[in-house]
Amino acid sequence: MTARPPSIDLLLRSDAGRAAVSRFGRGATVAALRSAAERARTGEIATDAIAAHALAALEQAAWPSLQPVINLTGTVLHTNLGRALLAEPAIAAAIAAMSGAATLEYDVATGGRGERDDHVRGLLRELTGAEDAIAVNNNAAAVLLALATIAAGRETIVSRGELIEIGGAFRMPAIMQSAGTRLVEVGTTNRTHARDYEDAIGADTALLMKVHTSNYRIEGFTAEVAPRDLAAIAHATSLPLLDDLGSGTLIDLTRHGLPRERTVADAIRDGADLVTFSGDKLLGGPQAGFIVGRRDLVARCAKHPLKRALRLDKIRLAALEATLKLYRDPDRLAETLPTLRLLVRPESDIRTMAETLRPALSTWAGPDWRVEVIACRSQIGSGALPVETLPSAGLALSPAGRASGSALDVLSARLRSLTPPVIGTIRDNAVRLDLRCLEDPATLLAALT
Ligand SMILES: *Cc1c(COP(=O)(O)O)cnc(C)c1O
Repeated sequence: MTARPPSIDLLLRSDAGRAAVSRFGRGATVAALRSAAERARTGEIATDAIAAHALAALEQAAWPSLQPVINLTGTVLHTNLGRALLAEPAIAAAIAAMSGAATLEYDVATGGRGERDDHVRGLLRELTGAEDAIAVNNNAAAVLLALATIAAGRETIVSRGELIEIGGAFRMPAIMQSAGTRLVEVGTTNRTHARDYEDAIGADTALLMKVHTSNYRIEGFTAEVAPRDLAAIAHATSLPLLDDLGSGTLIDLTRHGLPRERTVADAIRDGADLVTFSGDKLLGGPQAGFIVGRRDLVARCAKHPLKRALRLDKIRLAALEATLKLYRDPDRLAETLPTLRLLVRPESDIRTMAETLRPALSTWAGPDWRVEVIACRSQIGSGALPVETLPSAGLALSPAGRASGSALDVLSARLRSLTPPVIGTIRDNAVRLDLRCLEDPATLLAALT
């Protein structure tokens, strides 16, 4: 037999009730109290805990859905965890842009109208060697816009070895269909030759396209046409070449001891008429996509009605401008740009941090778990350098005795229930935490206590 719940009026005057009203407002509090009172009536919760339950429910509902996490997956540019972290100047610029009016499409010198792409156009030209540049929502948008502008109603020729699926709904054939261009596949999965492209060019051809095979590599008996040769084939019949670099990088990564990736400037130098790439992959900025290349073609893309639908807002443009400006001092980029800083972090550094954190993690996990420092390999992620990995270190938590198969899932869930949630991976009968992306051990220690 449960006691009759007190009236809502009485509950509103309790300590928890008053706290709830001051934090969440009267309307929401009354609704939460009613629903908690209903649960008390059915015996689900105690009658004297109604207000406390209502407050807890309101607090839980107020918790952000999009919340910070600690990324210990070992994938630096993790698409599901938000890819690149912004540099300090980019964060400051974004805050300034979102806090007040800004010169988004305004020319302060003349007092007349300005163009939003002008905030990044010059920088992109300078950093890529391209004649002109525009920025849109992401690289998928850049590819869509370029295809719709240059090749709608006509044919685009692509190698069968490059018909990528990036994940989700980004499959090259589907993007082509959305852009209204007819896909003409040439060659085979493993081998495509110059004559395959040449034979496919006809009266209806609008474009030749090269796509970076971002998340796989074809090995063995393979052949592809070098970008420079493909540009020559396109130009011989006055056709443009679009090179979708995917991640794209503005600098020679080997200078930082990383695997080689073709730069945007390489693609322009090799003769691509348009190059598309991402803002939040290796470039290390906010989500964005770029079309850089020949002035007349970029201008056509900028005038296409889709451009308006795909354009960037002031917050991201501000962050982008600040990010691109960091590239003017490439020698300091490994300090100033978080993405590069994480990628070049030496294994010894990461191992030292793992050794420091091991006791705290062992205490947290409890006697049923063995916690060891391990060597592991980090991934760059987001379709940049799919096969190459970086030597790293971390902690592996494995069952100390005999444990059921679900023990690892339970431990993972415990890590995810921390504030902020800690995200690792399960492999080789252990929960593995790659510490490459943990720059400050205090954030993990705080989450554990
Ligand atoms: C990642 C990628 C895209 C999509 O870029 P987003 O910025 O994620 O929209 C397109 N093409 C290639 C080759 C990619 O690697």
